Amino acid sequence: MHMYIRTLAIVALTTLTPTAFAKTCAVAISGDDAMKYDKSEIAVAASCSKITVTLTHTGKMEAKVMGHDWVLAKTADFDGVTKDGMKAGMANDFLPPGDARVIAHTKLIGGGETTSVTFDTSKLTKGGDYTFFCSFPGHWGMMKGKFVFK
Ligand code: ZN
Repeated sequence: MHMYIRTLAIVALTTLTPTAFAKTCAVAISGDDAMKYDKSEIAVAASCSKITVTLTHTGKMEAKVMGHDWVLAKTADFDGVTKDGMKAGMANDFLPPGDARVIAHTKLIGGGETTSVTFDTSKLTKGGDYTFFCSFPGHWGMMKGKFVFK
């Protein structure tokens, strides 16, 4: 009888564990022609091993006029990334190429478009201070919010 219970427990563990480690959590956010996101805070549970952020541009304006992306960085890196991103220009979606300070980002999109990014939460620290923003020059003044990982 003991053996039987033990076998069951092992089977349960081996089938449940991979699922628990591969938990992908979805976040949806939109930006519009009024230079605003529909969210000022995004909270994700620390039990998520991956996060998929889907950004929808609900406006009509082109990316070169009213482009939006979704970028995640430590709040301490926000100023530096936005300033360097401006120098990187539109060809780089206003982000310094290969910048380690950028934890995750979508591409820059225009009105009517949708884009998404999936990233590993191993790059995040539980309870860390993170900010999400749009890297289009000037947009980050209004288009930014708090990202909570807890
Ligand atoms: Zn924008």
